Amino acid sequence: MSTELPELFANNRRWAAATERREPGFFTRLAQQQSPKYMWIGCADSRVPANEITGLDPGEVFVHRNVANVVVHSDLNALSTIQFAVDSLKVRHIIIVGHYGCAGVRAALSGTRVGLADNWLRHVQDVRLRHRKRLQHMPPQQQEDALCEMNVIEQVGNVALSTVLQDAWTRGQQVAVHGWVYGLSDGLLKDLHVTMDDPETVVAVFAAAIKRYPRVAAADDE
Ligand SMILES: [Zn+2]
Repeated sequence: MSTELPELFANNRRWAAATERREPGFFTRLAQQQSPKYMWIGCADSRVPANEITGLDPGEVFVHRNVANVVVHSDLNALSTIQFAVDSLKVRHIIIVGHYGCAGVRAALSGTRVGLADNWLRHVQDVRLRHRKRLQHMPPQQQEDALCEMNVIEQVGNVALSTVLQDAWTRGQQVAVHGWVYGLSDGLLKDLHVTMDDPETVVAVFAAAIKRYPRVAAADDE
């Protein structure tokens, strides 16, 4: 399907008019301030739009997206966005949302060279390497799905261990970090039960989430 650019402007005018009709004053209110309760950190994939999936309006979710929903401690873009969300907007929930069928995760799993993104996806390859004993015994499709989930779990840990969250928790701010995964084939979100809201339990929550992917050889020491 090809959508020409003029159609986008026409769509936009229709949407703005319908929104204003449904909720008079909507844009005037939003123009004054945003106070979203949620921050979404998701994949840039066009099939995973934060607002549509969660039924939220503009102003209700603060969004950061990149290839394979990765949060790296040296990524000033992501960290600045997270800091603004926590310190200024005072969001209550930060949700890392991966998705099955993620091309970034698939490339990291197969070692396919895709270009500059190889360096970015190295972070997902690191996740795979760290947990290889939990992954390598699975059939290929299951391995891919599990790596999508494990990548989310790792990123939840990265956000929780960032100075932004550590500082927020130290001053008593209520903010939780969650990990979800989205199914392209059914449109449904799944909670990975890796919610972190207390610096004391971050490591235990992470360990419990990862242990749900058993290694085949019980004698392994990791
Ligand atoms: Zn993706």
